[in-house]
This record gives sequence, C-alpha cells and structure tokens, in this order.
Amino acid sequence: MSGFVRRCDACGAEVVVRRWHRRRPAKCLECGAALEVVPLDFAPFDVADESDRRGAEQMESWLALSVLAGCCMPIPAGVWWWASGAIGRARDEGRAPLPILLRLRVLAIVAVAIELSVWAIFLGRR
Ligand SMILES: [Zn+2]
Repeated sequence: MSGFVRRCDACGAEVVVRRWHRRRPAKCLECGAALEVVPLDFAPFDVADESDRRGAEQMESWLALSVLAGCCMPIPAGVWWWASGAIGRARDEGRAPLPILLRLRVLAIVAVAIELSVWAIFLGRR
C-alpha cells in the first residue's frame, strides 16, 4: 500500500498518510491533531512501490538460496545492503518503506549472524 510520510504540524510526530485518507482526514497518532491532506498524486508512488516490491521478491529468493546453500555469507550481507538502500530511497522520497523491506533487512542480518556462527564453529573444529 502506498503511503506518504508527513510530519504532524502540532507535535512533529511522523504520520503515514494512506490513500484512503483522501476520503477521511488523517489524524496524528501522538496528539490527535487532524492533518490536512492535500490532494495527493499517488501514481509515482505506486510505481516506486511496485519496483520496491519486485526488488523485495528478488531479495527473498537470494536470501532463501543463501540459507539453503548455508555458506554464502556475502549474499545475506548483500541483501541487507540492498534492502537498506531501498528503505533509504523510499524515506528520501517521502514514501513509507514497504513492510516487507523492513522484514527482509532483519532477516538478512539474522542470516548473516547464523552463517557467521556456522563458519565460526566450522573453523573452530579444524
Ligand atoms: Zn501530533
């Protein structure tokens, strides 16, 4: 789902403005102040979200592959870097990063940690 990140004018909290806020005004979760939502053009955001989603699918496949292979540490590290880049880009453009990207970034770190410890055990045995 597309979303813009707006700052609350009253308290400065970050509020994600969704498509349906065109019909219902967005409210700040922190202080409850109503946010004025200008008519938003979601189209470029949809395009960007779509390409992020495709990227996320590829990241998922790479991550699954590296876990199956069990020894390809550079892959989850690369996925982490890739997901971080996509998240940073979304934030720069004022979009809310896709939740799947945030999940993938955590998964990638976990995969790096697991593969690191597998290697540590392997090397320790020799
Ligand atoms: Zn507020």
